[in-house]
Amino acid sequence: MNSKIWLSAPHIGKTEEQYVKQAFNENWIAPVGPQLIEFESAIDAYLNTSSFSTALSSGTAAIHLALTLLNVANGDEVICQSFTFCATANPITYLGATPVFIDSELETWNMCPVVLEAAIKDRIKKNKKPKAIIFVDLYGMPAKIDVILKVASAYGIPVIEDAAEALGSTYKNRKCGTFGQFSILSFNGNKIITTSGGGALVSRTKAFQERALFYATQAKEPETHFQHQYIGFNYRLSNVCAAIGKGQMEVLETRIAQRQANHQFYEKLFQESLNISVFKSPNESYQPNYWLSCILINKTASFRSVDLINHLSNHNIEARLLWKPLHLQPVFKNSPYYGGSVCEDLFNCGVCLPSGSNLTPNDLLRIAEALSKFV
Ligand SMILES: *Cc1c(COP(=O)(O)O)cnc(C)c1O
Repeated sequence: MNSKIWLSAPHIGKTEEQYVKQAFNENWIAPVGPQLIEFESAIDAYLNTSSFSTALSSGTAAIHLALTLLNVANGDEVICQSFTFCATANPITYLGATPVFIDSELETWNMCPVVLEAAIKDRIKKNKKPKAIIFVDLYGMPAKIDVILKVASAYGIPVIEDAAEALGSTYKNRKCGTFGQFSILSFNGNKIITTSGGGALVSRTKAFQERALFYATQAKEPETHFQHQYIGFNYRLSNVCAAIGKGQMEVLETRIAQRQANHQFYEKLFQESLNISVFKSPNESYQPNYWLSCILINKTASFRSVDLINHLSNHNIEARLLWKPLHLQPVFKNSPYYGGSVCEDLFNCGVCLPSGSNLTPNDLLRIAEALSKFV
């Protein structure tokens, strides 16, 4: 049997191990140390615009901290894109708040600004003005960010950008991870770069970054004894993991180029196909990192998404369905939802194909053969 081709496997470069060894040699085996600071500086330098990052144990923790810093509390409502991974919305519930889910638009698959505004108006009418808005750059595709930010600012509602999947994407020549009051990044094992597990909260000001660090390290007041006025968290990234991240930042550009090349490969493969269309940037303003390459299967095709996934699985190739919209998840059945069936329809006919930056030419050949046998 051929070796397994994964959807999106970790891809480690030459220097990561060296930096980890350095951390060991210097005994910085803690959530503090020089590699952590260097990793954060590398992120800020890369993002380039008003970004003050705090490296954390996960992207989920980053969303939890962002909501905390925006004073989201028990009984509040937070508007959230429905078409996303559960980690976007779960932290809303950690604070005792309720997510209000919003449908997607077809061009970027992200939060529909028209539905967003209708939802805000309706929540305000019900005397429940949303405390924050979380939009996502799903699969690395930037959302209609300008329009979303304009709607949000018209109602004075702060915005969190979930850029967990979009490090390296740009919207109107500005990096994803730099929009809204806060952005979050993820360095989970399947993301474009990894620290084995980790994330970052990207603040727009130094003051918020300091506040994020305070809450991420148990909210210790600046006293000689342990003094606590607020409930904090133990969310700081370990220096050992940051050492991996520091090495990964050095290869980020090549990783993005490799993922974009995978996407071109799929575009070419399916250019004549009547059954399959590849999800791509609507225009120049959107430059996705193509973290995952996704396709939609035409409703008139003789096969469905699960058939394709099973077929690839028989060839030891991993593919997956798109994220199941959160408003359809049993755990969120009591949350309000605004919109129609855009994201539900995408979920019903979409597939994520192998997209790792370490796919070899031979892997791509195997994928092409398996796919052409089927479609
Ligand atoms: C991965 C991911 C997260 C969470 O990041 P973790 O580091 O796994 O906690 C949040 N949102 C989206 C859209 C993600 O894909």
